[in-house]
Amino acid sequence: MNIFNSVKKAEIHVHLEATITPTLCKKFAKRNNYEIAEEMFGSKYAYQWDDFYDFIKKYDIVTSVIHTPEDYFELTYEYLKDCAANNVLYVEAMISSTHAKEKGMTYHSFIEGVYEASKKAEEDFGIVSRYIMNGIRHLGPESVQGTAEEVLNNPHPCLVGFGLAGDELHFPPSLFVETFDMLKKENFPITVHAGEWDGPVNIRNAINLLHPTRLGHGVRSIEDPDLVKEIIDKDIILETCPTSNIATKIYKDYVDHPVKTLFDQGVKVTVNSDDPPFFNATINGEYKVMEDLGLNEKELTSLTHNAVKYSFCDEENKTKLLAKLN
Ligand SMILES: [Zn+2]
Repeated sequence: MNIFNSVKKAEIHVHLEATITPTLCKKFAKRNNYEIAEEMFGSKYAYQWDDFYDFIKKYDIVTSVIHTPEDYFELTYEYLKDCAANNVLYVEAMISSTHAKEKGMTYHSFIEGVYEASKKAEEDFGIVSRYIMNGIRHLGPESVQGTAEEVLNNPHPCLVGFGLAGDELHFPPSLFVETFDMLKKENFPITVHAGEWDGPVNIRNAINLLHPTRLGHGVRSIEDPDLVKEIIDKDIILETCPTSNIATKIYKDYVDHPVKTLFDQGVKVTVNSDDPPFFNATINGEYKVMEDLGLNEKELTSLTHNAVKYSFCDEENKTKLLAKLN
């Protein structure tokens, strides 16, 4: 057992700002003269939070210590270094220009911080990484539209897709149709958080209104067999994050979590850490969960295969990465 350690891995659903470790959080706070209360750090998880809305609040406070492109560089490099040490070949992380601009960085300066770290980590450890710009749904349709327009107007080699994150329950897919029609028209790759907090109706709406090829989570599709069939037929991939869903109490435990059933039903799934220190999640740990649920080495590698194949990375790198899995 414990084959998960040596299996080659990939991750396509992790929020870069949320990978910040308590050590980095304290370091950035000090460097930027920014006060972060000691009670922000928890015992159960690296940061203290109660429910989903408190989590969003604490997420904003913790990540608000990230002020400069140098901070972004260090954050990105440290995360990739840690992933590479756990046999992760590829990371596709979500980033937020909304966050960066709030802290006084420009769209270009923060992306350069991320990009420099991505290149250095590839040189130092061989790990390949690409990035997805997230629109934040609870900031409203105009904010998401502005973010998407900025992405389309400023192509960057490390920026390969657009995502929709944030409060799924109060900001349904129908609010964002115009933005995602525009992205589709430009053939810009799309992933949307859906089926984490909300059920089958809004997963269907996300698929039909926003044109994603991947769904962030998507696990509540299990509640509707026809929807599961539709996901398989449309070749939509699920970026599942089991530990995240258990931490936020959507599911009681790993046996209760639908990831194994969806896998057995033939849905193409990947496993991902989402917001690692907030849930004590790691990409290595998510592969362990799948091994504990009964996946063998070949099946664990199929998760990596899915993540790379359905990533938004260029075909040349995809081919190279896939070759490493054979
Ligand atoms: Zn997420």
